[in-house]
Parts: sequence; C-alpha cells; structure tokens
Amino acid sequence: MPVLLPTSRTRDHSKGPGARRAQDHVQDRVKDHAVVIAGAGPTGLMLAAELALANVDVAVVERRADQELVGTRAGGLHARSIEILDQRGVADRFLREGQVTQLAGFAWTRLDISDLPTRHAYGLVLRQSHIERILADWVSELAVPIYRNREMTGFAQDETGIDVTLSGGETLRANYLVGCDGGRSLVRKAAGIDFAGSDPTLSNLMAEVEMREEPAWGLRHDALGFHGLSKTESGRVLVVVTEATLDRTGAPGPRDLSDALVAVYGTDFGLQNPSWISRFTDAARQAVSYRKRRVLLAGDAAHIHHSVGGQGLNTGVQDAVNLGWKLAQVVKGLSPETLLDTYHAERHPVAARTLRNTMAQIALLRRGEDGLKAAREIVSELLGMDEPRKRFGAMMSGLDVHYDLGQGHALLGRRMPDLDLTVEGRPLRLFTLLRGARGLLFNFGDKNSFDTAPWVDRIKTVDVEHDGAWELPTVGQVAAPSAVLVRPDGHVAWVRDQGHDGLADALTRWFGAPAA
Ligand SMILES: Cc1cc2nc3c(=O)[nH]c(=O)nc-3n(C[C@H](O)[C@H](O)[C@H](O)COP(=O)(O)OP(=O)(O)OC[C@H]3O[C@@H](n4cnc5c(N)ncnc54)[C@H](O)[C@@H]3O)c2cc1C
Repeated sequence: MPVLLPTSRTRDHSKGPGARRAQDHVQDRVKDHAVVIAGAGPTGLMLAAELALANVDVAVVERRADQELVGTRAGGLHARSIEILDQRGVADRFLREGQVTQLAGFAWTRLDISDLPTRHAYGLVLRQSHIERILADWVSELAVPIYRNREMTGFAQDETGIDVTLSGGETLRANYLVGCDGGRSLVRKAAGIDFAGSDPTLSNLMAEVEMREEPAWGLRHDALGFHGLSKTESGRVLVVVTEATLDRTGAPGPRDLSDALVAVYGTDFGLQNPSWISRFTDAARQAVSYRKRRVLLAGDAAHIHHSVGGQGLNTGVQDAVNLGWKLAQVVKGLSPETLLDTYHAERHPVAARTLRNTMAQIALLRRGEDGLKAAREIVSELLGMDEPRKRFGAMMSGLDVHYDLGQGHALLGRRMPDLDLTVEGRPLRLFTLLRGARGLLFNFGDKNSFDTAPWVDRIKTVDVEHDGAWELPTVGQVAAPSAVLVRPDGHVAWVRDQGHDGLADALTRWFGAPAA
C-alpha cells in the first residue's frame, strides 16, 4: 500500500481538546484528523485556515497537483470578502496583487459603493488562480496538511466518526467531513442531499483563443443572449458567447465554439489555438440541507448559479468563515452539535438570495428584445438613484448580510464595523482584534463590568473607547451600544442596550456552557 503523505508540513496539534493525538505521525497509512475537507478550492482553503486558526487538526484532500486552473473563473473579491480577510490580517496580500475598483454591479449596471460605511468601499480585480495561490500560501504557513493528487472517492459514517476513502485505497478517519468539492460535489451526492433548483435556460461558452481576422470587439446583445470579445493581457482573444442550443453538454471543443460564434457573428473570425474552452450555464441549484450527520457542505458544493454579479467564490469564502469556528467549537467538545445547525440556518438564506438575484439578472440580460432592453434601462435608472444604489451595492458586495438572531439592536446578527478604537490609551482598528478568530466582548462602558470568567478560554473581554458614529450599510446610523459580543466570524451575537440581560445566555448559545 502507498504511504499517504500530505504536501505541506503538519503543525503541533497536540494541545487542547479535539486536537490531534500526539502519537499520530504524518506517515501513518490510516490517519485521524478532527476534520477532513474535500477540495482545496477557495472555500476549502478558507475553511482550512479558519480551523487551523482555531487549533483544530484539519486536513484537505485535493485532486489537483497545485492551484493551477484550466480556464478563467472568478475575477475578483467583493467588499465583504476583503473585510473578512482583513479580519484575519491577510487582506494586504490580496490588495497588493489586484486592482482596487468599483466592481459591484447588477445586470451590467455598475454600482458605486464608495460612500458605503466600510474601510473597503470597493472591490478587487484579481483572478481566481491568484486568489487561490495566496490562500494556499497562507494555509501552508498555518501548516495544514494537503493531500494532493488524491481524489475523495467515498465515505462511511458511524456513531463515532467518518471514514473518508481516497483514490489509491487509503482511508482518513475524521469526526467531520466537509464537502468543498465544487458544483458536481461527490460529497453531496454520496450523502444523498438533494440539489434543488432549476435547469439551465442558457449556455455560455468561454474561451481564450487566437483569431486570424480582427474580431468584433466589445459586448453584444441579440435574440440568443449576450456575447463579448475582449483582449487578454497576453494579446489573445477572450470569448464569451451564448450558445444557440442547450443540447450540447459536457466538455466543449473548438467545433462548439466555432458554431456558437458563427450563429452570432456570421463568422468564427478564423479562430485557432484555443488554450482552453469552458461551458457554464444559468442552472441555479442549492443543497436542501447543508448538513447530514457528520457531513457538511460549503461553497459551490452547496449552491450554484450563473457567474453574473461575481458572487460564487465570495459566497463560498463567507460560508467557510461562518462554519469554521462553529465546527471548531463542536470538535473541541465545547458546544453541542446543534451549533452546526445554525450554519445551515444562517447561510442557506444568503445563497438563496444570491440565486434569486442572479436569476433576475439573467432574465434581464438574456435577450436583445425591445421589451427586455426597456426593462434593463429602467432598472438601470432606478439603480442610479441613491437609495437603491446603496442597497443593491451592499447586497452585491455582501455588506448587508444579516443573520436572524432575533429582535433587538440593529447590530444584532450584522457584521461588526471596523471601528477606530482606543485600547489602553492606544489607537487600534477593531478588525485587528479579530485576527485570532476568537469571540470578543467589547466593553465600551464601565471597566470590569462583566463576569465572563466561565468562558475565559473561549472569549476575550476588551475595554475599549470609540468616539465616532456607528453606521451600518443599508441601515445608516445606529445608537452607540455600551457593549457588544462579536463572534469569530465578525457578526454581532449580543448587544447591551440597557442592563446586562441576556449576556450569559448569548455566551452559552454561541460559545458553550460555562466552565464549572
Ligand atoms: C466562468 C466563471 C466565472 C466566474 N466568475 C466569478 C466571479 O467573478 N466572482 C465569483 O465570486 N465567482 C465567480 N465564479 C464562481 C467561482 O469560480 C466559484 O464559485 C468558486 O470557484 C467556488 O469555489 P469552491 O471552492 O466552492 O469550489 P471549486 O472552486 O469548484 O473547488 C472545488 C475543489 O475541489 C476539488 N475536488 C472536486 N472533487 C474532488 C474530489 N472528489 N476529491 C478531491 N478534490 C476534489 C477540485 O479539484 C477543486 O479544487 C465564476 C465561475 C465561472 C465558471
């Protein structure tokens, strides 16, 4: 039997509950990990980092040898994803490689978010291959083992754990398996989780090619759909074309591309030497459940939709940040398994809304009919008005996500803003305190006014001052609270308005029972 070796080194996970057993060695044939992630795409990598920051023994299984991608996929990061990376202290790695710009849009109407209340009131143009490379470097620094050139081929769960089988016949034993294995997720299928939604109504081909003749540069709308021919950095032609038929499925070839171009432009402009050709559709599907016993789903494995609006990678990365700390608490035995159900409860509606907005955008964009053209123009006019622009801008950039944590202060369930604080007389940005991916109780009032000793291993209390306004995207200014409990994902779990009521309940709900 082959020896199973990950490509990156392992850390010392020997400390703390749920941590790796000290006697385990990386060269064991059958290994134990607290969590196995199938797939080292953006979602799997982000989740691996979150679990590693929580000192959980996590390993990733990836069929690819490295982060190279065939074809082009996501083109950038929206504001909330940049904020999330900022919360972990790694946003600069991405910002210095990409191009900051106004990226958000709806049905091709640009949404300027530069006046939204965030430190990152913009998007970042950066190809997915670079995003994955930077994430993979970070994950490697965090010493997460990645089993590359390995496919997850199946799993079997029992009362005490889950056996994950890999191509090559090896088995990894884990407490939980997370399927971050993309839209065709084997994890989802093997778990028998329904992928409910709609079949494609349009099919796009995308390719990078050479053309012997000068092509018709730019965007075009017609009865078939939308099409575009643009120049890549290397001087080749990036083609996006809507196919005349839905009948062709599977891996597309030069013939498919030529036929699609001829149907739209009357010529294929002498296309030659395609470096890659890919097909994507507007199928919109979502896993009906994000968890089945010891199996969880995140990213494209849990939801697929058309790429318009550029939300897929961003939603997956944000799924990972919602799930990571919860899974960590459960594998460490600090919180009951029911905490994992809040992952589905919070993230399923977010992706459902993304599916809805992509379907609406495709309905507006798909054909060049006069009626649809008029509808597009009217939507565009509406989005030119301040309030709709701000609301849609916050939606498309992920800044308005609001988990339903019950009634209360407007901050409850929303992202904590990156306030300028004074801590022990020194200026500090709030996000810098979130880098450790721990829960934080921010006390803006009397010092030493909370007894959080029974949770001291899980949350940190910080006495802080903030003189400025409190402003939230889509909500506006809100009353300054005197204390706020922030989860490791940066969302507000409890707010003190008047009195201390409810803090112990909130701490127990999100961080487990008090230590005896
Ligand atoms: C043309 C196009 C344009 C896009 N544009 C944007 C955009 O602008 N913005 C945006 O946010 N999103 C965009 N997306 C979507 C984005 O690419 C996906 O949402 C994103 O890649 C999802 O990340 P993921 O990690 O969930 O899944 P994936 O990126 O699909 O990663 C899954 C990983 O799992 C591995 N894997 C699969 N099965 C197994 C197995 N059995 N065993 C081991 N490994 C396995 C794969 O090799 C892969 O590395 C676009 C997509 C397309 C196709």
